[in-house]
Amino acid sequence: MTTIRVGHLYPEYLNIYADRGNIAVLTRRAALRGHDLVVEGVSIGDALEPGSHDLLYVGGGQDREQELISADLAGRADAIRYAVDGGAALLAVCGGYQLLGRGYRERSGALLPGVGLFAHETLAGERRLIGDVLLDCTWAGRTLAGFENHVGRTVLDPGAEPLGRVVAGFGNDGESGHEGCRVGRAVGTYLHGPLLPRNPWLADMLLGWALAHRTGGEPPTLEPLPDELERRAHEVSAQRARDRGGRF
Ligand code: GLN
Repeated sequence: MTTIRVGHLYPEYLNIYADRGNIAVLTRRAALRGHDLVVEGVSIGDALEPGSHDLLYVGGGQDREQELISADLAGRADAIRYAVDGGAALLAVCGGYQLLGRGYRERSGALLPGVGLFAHETLAGERRLIGDVLLDCTWAGRTLAGFENHVGRTVLDPGAEPLGRVVAGFGNDGESGHEGCRVGRAVGTYLHGPLLPRNPWLADMLLGWALAHRTGGEPPTLEPLPDELERRAHEVSAQRARDRGGRF
């Protein structure tokens, strides 16, 4: 039994579409393999011991919530980059994903500073990009299905790795065909859903990375779980995206 330490950043601010459901999935899937997940909320002004967490999680939120936490989050840039450089896993969704890049410029013109972990910038557009999304993640040989709702357009720097190629939906900016970003064991995405209940392979990949960070060495192979319900949830979501994703 291994204890996996999770740092959940700003849980009371960044939890749109019940993004904390992702944590519930990680907890349950760890427990079914005999591991314990200890979740520590890290909010404005709280200490974040560099490298003490095996997985960092940041959910989504609207501009108002992002404004409230962005200065505090940007002040943690070194600690977050140190954690990811040291092999910790990270998952960031939507508003959190935007602020892990270099910054987010709002409609008002105000610039919210970011962490600079992901090589991207985000600019608020005019129309919201809303709907179901299906991604092809060739690097993993899998697909991801979810739901997006954002006004920000995120543009990756040349050479930055997207999380997936958009099969249906808008993705980072509605134009590039890219969705999300990956660096090391850090994954950023616009996909809510929450994301992990309908994409359990990503939950297990994050758990494997977190276990590898805790114990050293390579990520272990996790015992498969009977994911019939999850498979159906993925399929319903993927079909919705194919039917109506990515249209104004
Ligand atoms: N405020 C951001 C946007 O609309 C993020 C929204 C979200 O997290 N759903 O672009």
